[in-house]
Amino acid sequence: MHVVRPKDPVVGRVVASQPCLNGRSASFVRHVAIDVSGTDLAGSFRVGQAFGVIPPGEDHRGKPHSVRLYSLACPSHGEDGEGNVLSTTVKRVIDEYTPQEHDEEQDAHHLFVGVCSNYLCDLKIGDEVLVSGPAGKRFLLPADPSRHDYLFISTGTGIAPYYGMIRELLQGPEGTCSSRIELVAGAPYTTDLIYDDVFQELAAAHDNFTYHPVVSRSDIRREYVDRYIERNLDDSFRDFLEDPRTLIYMCGLEGMESGLYRVLARHGLSDGYMDVREPLTLEGHESWETADMKRNVKAGPRCLVEVY
Ligand SMILES: Cc1cc2nc3c(=O)[nH]c(=O)nc-3n(C[C@H](O)[C@H](O)[C@H](O)COP(=O)(O)OP(=O)(O)OC[C@H]3O[C@@H](n4cnc5c(N)ncnc54)[C@H](O)[C@@H]3O)c2cc1C
Repeated sequence: MHVVRPKDPVVGRVVASQPCLNGRSASFVRHVAIDVSGTDLAGSFRVGQAFGVIPPGEDHRGKPHSVRLYSLACPSHGEDGEGNVLSTTVKRVIDEYTPQEHDEEQDAHHLFVGVCSNYLCDLKIGDEVLVSGPAGKRFLLPADPSRHDYLFISTGTGIAPYYGMIRELLQGPEGTCSSRIELVAGAPYTTDLIYDDVFQELAAAHDNFTYHPVVSRSDIRREYVDRYIERNLDDSFRDFLEDPRTLIYMCGLEGMESGLYRVLARHGLSDGYMDVREPLTLEGHESWETADMKRNVKAGPRCLVEVY
């Protein structure tokens, strides 16, 4: 971790920038690849980690903008197979301004444009960018990936690490890993499913990989990832979750864990995936409040979580 510190970043060069949504969406998400060859970052990252981007300019206090973290979307050997090109999946933060403090003008509603996500998405091929990292030491693939099976769950850009991990498992330098891989990818609408075509193709080509796109705001079926897993428990997920080989990974919006922990508790599947601390008890799961869960229900050794 932290081979390159944000205070002393290295210069990378953008080598690819492509939209990664199909069809018309209200969101803008790009796959951005950055060449870091010749820097200390080259070859020093692992899929599941994040890297830092330092946007130019100053914040509203006149201080240089702080580093923002982005999950690696490439395998550990990079997009180029040599560990020289890292990538991420970046969503432009664009919204109507909502006052954040009491002393702000409360009816302010101008356009709010996130600093770093838009900077990164605006960069063109050949542009330089200051990068740091890598960051993160737990949300990683195991040392011997073939000894486990994987339930990968994402919301939004939380798909980024799985884009790297699944390519590493299925197409890595070691050949195809035969582990069972289930990807449950949540998005508001089908047009917001990120890398959808690539995952469809990988699922068609590999019997051990199943792709489950789940949309939460469709008119046809509205569902969140946890509810989808619960609905399909007896058809596909129960045996899988009971198998001691299985690891659960969750990545995306803060708050996504509580829904899954509730499902696991409700169906007697919590073993190894979650630790329930006092004053909460597993038996009392029906009355858990989400705020209490944040403090007292933690990921167990078979559950890896990266939320932001
Ligand atoms: C470990 C980790 C991995 C991450 N991976 C990814 C990734 O793979 N892809 C990705 O896109 N992002 C990722 N992020 C998030 C990323 O770091 C940035 O937070 C995100 O891109 C927004 O940064 P920004 O500079 O564009 O927005 P900022 O300029 O920092 O604005 C966002 C901040 O402004 C405030 N805000 C938000 N909306 C409004 C509003 N409507 N009105 C007023 N204030 C508002 C909030 O406080 C918010 O924190 C990750 C974060 C972490 C911690």
